[in-house]
Amino acid sequence: MNHADVVIVGSGVMGAATAYWLTHLQPSLRVTLVESDTRYEKASSSLSASSIRQQFTCPVNIRLSQFGIAFLREAEQHLGLPDHPVALGLQEPGYLYLAQPEQTAALHTAHQIQKQAGADVALLGPDELRQCYPWLNVDDVALGSLGLSGEGWFDGPALHQAFLKKAMAQGVQRLHDRVVGLDQTGTQISAVRLASGGSLPCGQVVNAAGPWAGEVAAMAGVQLPIEAARRTVFVLSCPEPLPQCPLLIDPSGWWLRPEGRYLISGAEPTQTEHGLPLEPDWAEWNDEQWASLAHRIPALAALRVERAWAGYYEMNTFDHNAVIGPHPKLGNLYFINGFSGHGMQHAAGAGLALAEWMLLGQAKTIAVQELGFERLAQNRPLRELAVIG
Ligand SMILES: Cc1cc2nc3c(=O)[nH]c(=O)nc-3n(C[C@H](O)[C@H](O)[C@H](O)COP(=O)(O)OP(=O)(O)OC[C@H]3O[C@@H](n4cnc5c(N)ncnc54)[C@H](O)[C@@H]3O)c2cc1C
Repeated sequence: MNHADVVIVGSGVMGAATAYWLTHLQPSLRVTLVESDTRYEKASSSLSASSIRQQFTCPVNIRLSQFGIAFLREAEQHLGLPDHPVALGLQEPGYLYLAQPEQTAALHTAHQIQKQAGADVALLGPDELRQCYPWLNVDDVALGSLGLSGEGWFDGPALHQAFLKKAMAQGVQRLHDRVVGLDQTGTQISAVRLASGGSLPCGQVVNAAGPWAGEVAAMAGVQLPIEAARRTVFVLSCPEPLPQCPLLIDPSGWWLRPEGRYLISGAEPTQTEHGLPLEPDWAEWNDEQWASLAHRIPALAALRVERAWAGYYEMNTFDHNAVIGPHPKLGNLYFINGFSGHGMQHAAGAGLALAEWMLLGQAKTIAVQELGFERLAQNRPLRELAVIG
């Protein structure tokens, strides 16, 4: 097989974005994406709620979101092709975090971090919330945190396809195969072994295997604390319109947002084992959940559950943050993993950061060094507290 400069294991949105940026920055680079499921049936990138927020507690995640929203607004300029215009349907009604009295201190702390990082967010009291959202019951709410701009949702699978198509137009090859091993020579990965037989020699390897990233890392003897954490998304219809409805995060933990003429919603899972079958967990949809939704939005007393789907968060169980950059010892093995349910919005920035790290020795446009692998090796968690569901 031909030698590739870079082999990327997995071509979900992370692999595709990395391939796009690598060949954008260095057009002569020979990049091969190896993908076992070219229909992306189980990929997180197909099953995502594809929303974007600035309301994180780690400044590095805010930086990635700031880059992300700017990129999404200009996606056509970056990724458009003559035969493939990019339509992402980006909407920016904001995220609204609601806090009960005992949760306000955490919301104030997060607000300070976000303002310092330049996020366009505001804290609203119950009266302001009632004025903005007359359909919302805030009788037990002390404070809300609203993203005034740069927050909303978009068509994630369309972004994934746009990255893929543009990368391939820039010369990236995609191989339909499964990586089953990584060959090592000293402290370098010299080739990836393929399920179909044979191996693909390469200069650098990227682990972009999403929820399966731990398995790929293990092929190089590296322990990566990423689990396939199933999440169920319910599609609801509501008989009444909810004007200006943002992505709402209830104090009890569930989230909800409009999706076309429906609403979609999810909650913290009741079952948390790694790699559960990709089927919706209907047990999450119980009387208590229904009552909680109807308490917050009285119109939802008459809701209908239309359907549900399940996908895997690529959950970093160490600190709920991404791992971006090289392995400290296997210097040509790179990671872009563990986004813990907020990767779709960060794909553009994370892909660029990794591509710069690989080509220039460091991420220049967005400072992401703190997301490097060293923190795992040195047991220094960088905890993101704003993980939804
Ligand atoms: C229900 C749900 C809701 C979400 N909501 C949001 C949201 O609102 N906002 C947000 O920003 N993010 C959200 N996310 C997270 C986001 O979708 C993910 O962070 C992102 O899609 C991860 O992309 P990925 O490329 O790393 O993984 P994937 O899309 O899973 O791609 C990994 C690919 O690697 C391939 N692969 C794995 N192992 C191998 C191998 N050995 N050989 C070859 N190929 C291999 C797989 O087939 C797969 O296609 C959500 C995710 C889910 C599931």
